[in-house]
Amino acid sequence: MLLKLNDPLLLKTQAYIDGQWVNAASAKVFAVTNPANGLKIIDVADVGARETKQAIAAAEKALVSWRAKTAKERSQLLRNWFDLTVQHKDDLARLMTLEQGKPLNEALGEVMYGASFIEWFAEEAKRVYGDVIPATGGDKRLLTIKQPVGVVAAITPWNFPIAMITRKAAPALAAGCTIVIKPSEETPLCALALAELAHRAGIPAGVLNVVAGKDAVAIGGELTSSTVVRKLSFTGSTPVGKKLIAQCAQTVKRTSMELGGNAPFIVFDDADLDAAVEGALASKYRNAGQTCVCANRILVQDSVYDAFAAKLAARVDAFKVGEGTIPGVHIGPLINKSAVEKVDHLVSSALKGGAKALVGGKRSAQGELFYSPTILTGVTADMAIFNEEIFGPVAPLFRFKTEEEAIAMANATPYGLAAYFFAGDLARIWRVSEGLEYGMVGINEGLISTEVAPFGGVKESGTGREGSKYGIDEYLEIKYLCMGGI
Ligand code: ADP
Repeated sequence: MLLKLNDPLLLKTQAYIDGQWVNAASAKVFAVTNPANGLKIIDVADVGARETKQAIAAAEKALVSWRAKTAKERSQLLRNWFDLTVQHKDDLARLMTLEQGKPLNEALGEVMYGASFIEWFAEEAKRVYGDVIPATGGDKRLLTIKQPVGVVAAITPWNFPIAMITRKAAPALAAGCTIVIKPSEETPLCALALAELAHRAGIPAGVLNVVAGKDAVAIGGELTSSTVVRKLSFTGSTPVGKKLIAQCAQTVKRTSMELGGNAPFIVFDDADLDAAVEGALASKYRNAGQTCVCANRILVQDSVYDAFAAKLAARVDAFKVGEGTIPGVHIGPLINKSAVEKVDHLVSSALKGGAKALVGGKRSAQGELFYSPTILTGVTADMAIFNEEIFGPVAPLFRFKTEEEAIAMANATPYGLAAYFFAGDLARIWRVSEGLEYGMVGINEGLISTEVAPFGGVKESGTGREGSKYGIDEYLEIKYLCMGGI
């Protein structure tokens, strides 16, 4: 195993339950591999339903004293966790590049982005207010208080192995909830390292638990069927999200769902084309195109189509593909074989349908899981690539004539997570912003995620918002108190 950490104790391979590091009762393990070369990094305890039950019980037990702490006490512990995460950012980034594949500078960016949610919610913990409601009668006083929902579960994906955990765990803990986290089986090492740092930060046993295992159905089944777990927060694909919503219906659990996207990126004829190219590069190719807010369909107005394509091609052509640990690499490997196959299939069927590869258009010679950064021109809305989330470094360029047509094309999808557009005219900017059926809109901007703003989607992209002043509400119940006889 080629893994040099400044603090080797951050490499954890067991589940973290009730403040203890534990093996699977079955003694089973699963291999975590490096997508850049297919080599095993290390074996991790393959826990399942049994350990998940134990984690839920630990979270239930810990809830009593955790929710009784003052907001300031919880805030301080979260602050410690934030400080430790920042202090160990280089190790966390290294672990991430190793198990996930993204370039090291992007991994470092994600560690800091992930940490920012811990900092933010350490602060928000202290700002959970109730209301005094003007009463309907003089003998009454009406109030609301906010209380933690209780034990919560988080199921998280591999594309942001740290940030997708902190975005859920930090507001949950800040609100006074306890949590059981099931990270992706592709990237358990980052999750376990975060748990180790939470442990060192003094977050009490049982408040945060991590169960990593291959059998997502068994772990998910336990989390969703438990009557102790009051809420599930999930980030992942829309099909799995739908299944989990159905499972949660049995116990009428609250859910927050951050699901798939099919982001349009619209370039109007009055846009600053150079800025639009920068925006497209940032929004499309980060994490090799494996983010749910990645530009999926680039819609370009007829009169600037060729100029935009040429400018974008010049930049994408210069991208360096390779292992994320090599300095200067822009595009790392995709996460696994099926990811590469999906991208390959979408591109080849577009090419068969008459699209042209202006850049790339094929797998990369760098290795099995690498795909060449690609730009396709002449792509049309009847092709599969218009409807499906690509999750790879491929930019299909669609042509449109009018603003109405662009908005209609952008909205012609069941998804509604992020949308982007570049334009100059202020009236157009308002019209398009209001016309797009999306939870988030980047206007003359390709990177929109930040802990201070609400992240989330509409339609089949999900429910709920993460980050910002709204993010903590996902973990709070409003209780109405009616005081009579006054
Ligand atoms: P992605 O395409 O990002 O891998 P998935 O929705 O497949 O998206 O996975 C996101 C998370 O959901 C991962 O932690 C995965 O293990 C988990 N997962 C996948 N299928 C199920 C399931 N049926 N029940 C519970 N969790 C699941």
